[in-house]
Amino acid sequence: MTVLPLVFDAPKRGLPPQHLADLDSAGRRDAVVALGEKAFRADQLSRHYFAGRGLDEATDLSPSAREHLAPLLPTLLTRVRDQQADGGDTTKTLWRAHDGSLIESVLMRYPDRTTVCVSSQAGCGMACPFCATGQAGLTRNLSTAEIVEQVVRSNAAELAAGRRGVTNLVYMGMGEPLANANRVLASVRRFTDPAPEGLGLSQRSLVVSTVGVVPAIRRLQETGLKVTLALSLHAPDDELRNTLVPVNTRWPVKEVLEAAFGYTRSTGRRLSIEYAMIKDVNDQAWRADLLAKRLKGKLVHVNLIPLNPTPGSAWDASDKAVEREFVRRLKAAGISTTVRDTKGQDIAGACGQLAAE
Ligand code: SAH
Repeated sequence: MTVLPLVFDAPKRGLPPQHLADLDSAGRRDAVVALGEKAFRADQLSRHYFAGRGLDEATDLSPSAREHLAPLLPTLLTRVRDQQADGGDTTKTLWRAHDGSLIESVLMRYPDRTTVCVSSQAGCGMACPFCATGQAGLTRNLSTAEIVEQVVRSNAAELAAGRRGVTNLVYMGMGEPLANANRVLASVRRFTDPAPEGLGLSQRSLVVSTVGVVPAIRRLQETGLKVTLALSLHAPDDELRNTLVPVNTRWPVKEVLEAAFGYTRSTGRRLSIEYAMIKDVNDQAWRADLLAKRLKGKLVHVNLIPLNPTPGSAWDASDKAVEREFVRRLKAAGISTTVRDTKGQDIAGACGQLAAE
């Protein structure tokens, strides 16, 4: 009888059973050996997993090896539903985890890339009042493998349909990635490690979006990873940001910008500032000017997001004329600025609309 290593213990605090994608390559080799197989099987197994193949398709493994290694590939997510928008170019997928938690991911096909927007938590604890995910509260962190699985499965489905695989990833689904930093950082490794150990995406094609958990931004910096950091700023002043992004009361605007620019200095990656345009709330000309002042001379790009409607919210997107003036002021101050093209609004798949309902 095989004695399972500690990693296969009962799930803690709702986390799913341990999966191959939770482990780094050394951990995978150890786990394979603990299951009575030779260490090199870890690479074979990883190659199949990241290509989206199940054990039943792993024909280079004997039936007995497959049986021994099955505990490393538990089913983590069940596909509940796919919804299409934007003429079929956007697909929102609803997944159910082992404990019944529901999460969503969104796949977006563009002429030059295919991007998946992944969830990092079931729900979110950050309570931003304009975001549907924030309204529902936090259920739990996702495991590394649950984050990875969303992308591996979407990628495999694209390839099976004869389309380009996933090229880009944004951690902009449900949850606050840097409130689940260990697992999110491990998932970044899985996505960017070359085959057979990972999916082989380039670090620069990953975006980690955060409300601004300052200690975790510093940790991200210490890893030496060079992903793009996006900061959900939404207001240039503490008074308003305290209400739009409540975590601002802990790490205010000045401190969060300092941490984010520390990251850009050490990585050379341009900081992305996300700013939802909310009518008569944060879209005044003086706020554009204050934002420009705070960002002046930095390696930064501002991404304005017309507010997407969420259930029960009294807020609207800014008028187009107001939005244009906001852009004009930022650009006049030398700040690179674009307005985000809103995808998947009609299937509640756009920024801030993921509620897994
Ligand atoms: N928790 C992370 C990632 C989630 S969402 C973060 O906050 O950065 C990605 C972006 O969508 C964030 O900038 C978020 O503030 C923004 N967003 C949330 N609700 C929105 C809405 N209703 N309309 C437009 N953008 C929204």
